Amino acid sequence: MRFLRMRFDSRQKVDPTRTEIETIDGRRVPVTLIVNPRARHVSVRIDPARREAIATAPTPRHLKHAAQFAAERAGWIAHELARLPKGVSLTPGSVAPIRGVEHDLVFAHGRAKPRVEGGLLPRLIVEAPDPALFERRVLRFLKDQARADLIDRVAHHAVTLGVRPERIQVKELRSRWGSCSVDGVLSFSWRLILAPGFVLDYLAAHEVAHLREMNHSRRFWAHVRRCMPEFERGRDWLHEHGSELHAVGLAR
Ligand SMILES: [Zn+2]
Repeated sequence: MRFLRMRFDSRQKVDPTRTEIETIDGRRVPVTLIVNPRARHVSVRIDPARREAIATAPTPRHLKHAAQFAAERAGWIAHELARLPKGVSLTPGSVAPIRGVEHDLVFAHGRAKPRVEGGLLPRLIVEAPDPALFERRVLRFLKDQARADLIDRVAHHAVTLGVRPERIQVKELRSRWGSCSVDGVLSFSWRLILAPGFVLDYLAAHEVAHLREMNHSRRFWAHVRRCMPEFERGRDWLHEHGSELHAVGLAR
């Protein structure tokens, strides 16, 4: 197999290396090889946002082993990648969910702010002087909406638990939906705005609860429940549909 002849210099810091592996029936699947000193073994996982497999090695010396490990699982990787939901591009004419409701994305020449026209088939009308700017404007609109909703829900839950977050960040997060740093900064994935409102609300409650309990102990979940008695609904929804959110506006 061709990739096994790749050479790695173990003295250098290694940037992610992209490669392809071949399944028994000849399909080629993309794999990114990374070094993570905190990893204890070589491993392989699927990154739904990038639609590729990530093979991890604890040291540069183990990269070849990680590549081989991935190659032995080429069939599984191809199967998992094929199972990912089809990508939804944020281009004029496509349909994307906002707060769980499908919206037609409509381009208009102009400079006005994006606006939603309701009705049975709601439309998000995004103006730009040039269609090439459309996707960027849609993304900015979605991030702004996510930030507004999250600020509102975080403030609400923070009162319930008697805590005060330092700051709220909304950005692209690859492998999780939110996080809470030791200095009280809450980070969230902008993609939560695509999901029904109770899902974003659950994530807000989850990260706010970390300001009380920096772990996932029973005490932690009790705080989440105080914020949101039916939090499981949001957690289950993400478990089941999370990869669909990653398929919107594919990361390139
Ligand atoms: Zn957590």
